[in-house]
Amino acid sequence: MGTFALTETHSHALIIGAGCAGLLAASALAPYFSRVTIIDQDAAPDDDVFAVRRSTPQSQHAHHLLFEGKRVIDMLYPGFSSAFVGRGGKQLDFGADFRFFQSGRWRRPRRLGVPMYLGMREMMEGAMRDGLAAHRNVSLEWSTKADALIVESGRCVGATLDRNGQQETVSADLVIDATGRWSKLGDAAPRRFTIDVWYTTFLLATRFAHAPDWSVLIGYNKRPEQRVACYAGFTAPGESILQFTIMSYGLKPPTQFEDCIEFLRHEAPSPLFADLLASGTPIKPPTRLAFPSMDWSPSPLATNVIRIGDAACSVDPVTGVGVTKAALEAELLSKLLASETPLNEIGAAFDKGARRLRTRAWDFLYEQNSRFTVSGSALARRYMDRVMDLAQDGDGIFKTFVKVRNLVTPMAAFYHPSIAARVLLSAFSNRPPDEDSTPVLPPTSGSEQRQTAASTMSSR
Ligand SMILES: Cc1cc2nc3c(=O)[nH]c(=O)nc-3n(C[C@H](O)[C@H](O)[C@H](O)COP(=O)(O)OP(=O)(O)OC[C@H]3O[C@@H](n4cnc5c(N)ncnc54)[C@H](O)[C@@H]3O)c2cc1C
Repeated sequence: MGTFALTETHSHALIIGAGCAGLLAASALAPYFSRVTIIDQDAAPDDDVFAVRRSTPQSQHAHHLLFEGKRVIDMLYPGFSSAFVGRGGKQLDFGADFRFFQSGRWRRPRRLGVPMYLGMREMMEGAMRDGLAAHRNVSLEWSTKADALIVESGRCVGATLDRNGQQETVSADLVIDATGRWSKLGDAAPRRFTIDVWYTTFLLATRFAHAPDWSVLIGYNKRPEQRVACYAGFTAPGESILQFTIMSYGLKPPTQFEDCIEFLRHEAPSPLFADLLASGTPIKPPTRLAFPSMDWSPSPLATNVIRIGDAACSVDPVTGVGVTKAALEAELLSKLLASETPLNEIGAAFDKGARRLRTRAWDFLYEQNSRFTVSGSALARRYMDRVMDLAQDGDGIFKTFVKVRNLVTPMAAFYHPSIAARVLLSAFSNRPPDEDSTPVLPPTSGSEQRQTAASTMSSR
């Protein structure tokens, strides 16, 4: 047994970072500490769900919350779902509302009964911050930056803080590093896998409430020849705003609206994306974000420091897994505290459990990205291409794809004998693929709308 048996409450936990991972950790820790302090270097956010926090440039993007993530958040923050929907978030079906373009054709929409949640990040974080009120022992302090951890004999005793220019030290029994992928708090360089992906994102005003047969379109690129993937999703509130994102691997997309339409005519996986972008009216200038690498940080040097969320492991955001991964890590933390893991052992125990979750996300996205950057095994790549191709038809392999994407099962599931047999058989069979089912574009009046764009932009 370690020195800090958790049969009695600990005194103080410090959480550095009030993003999704920090907020989730707060609720996991609250029952076990007399005091939990969350600090964040940013100024307190206002109520604008489209506002982008300085330290989280990804908040310009709508975020997907996978069903496992939502399950955990609802457990840690009872009432989260209704608060999230109240702020404009929505629930969608992975099979019916999401339309995937892959292997040269659109997958037919089919209800799968697998829910998926979509909203701006501020809708998620705001809903969690609402839930913090239930924990009277938790405080959240904005404009407070952690400069360094204070480590003595392998144990962290606190941190030095900068509170609006004032330096101070704070002591803590447990420190959670939830400082995100752009953190400077890590004590060693992460393992890095270069992916060189660029995101250019437009928010488009639309006249329609929603498209006739989809809420989200995702166009995967055929690798390695095609480097551009596309995403379009109706982003509440009002459902009349479409987020359109160009994801480009190793190729900088333009940032001007007309140039992007032209770019997509040559580079997009389906011609529909250029038409869709052309149909809308940007309501503010586009944003561009570089995501150069997937990063996996080493374990913290002190045994009572836990690194969680993107600070620990940040993967290609294309599958929308980051918040769900952070939620599952927070659930693990909660279980370790419930089972009275001593604080001087909790860091190692947490890392061991979290490795499994991180590996699930990392392996899948490593495979998806490695065609651009490393040679790998040509046979394995051809196998996975065939799996993805077959996932476009029927529900069997697609369900496995959904489970891997949702971190429910590891990537090894793609090598299950039943899938391997289908891959093998497909090499000898001429079974035609499902018919292409191109999504219907909503009625547009793009040029007309663009005439009013200037006034819309200036009013934001
Ligand atoms: C383009 C893009 C799209 C994405 N889409 C999705 C998606 O659809 N679904 C999904 O689940 N994930 C998505 N992600 C990933 C997701 O944004 C992250 O996984 C998630 O935000 C991680 O949360 P976090 O709390 O670990 O880090 P962050 O959200 O980055 O929060 C870190 C916090 O720490 C604070 N901080 C940092 N350093 C200090 C310090 N020294 N002192 C005090 N505070 C500090 C920062 O101010 C910040 O608030 C996307 C990412 C990108 C880049």
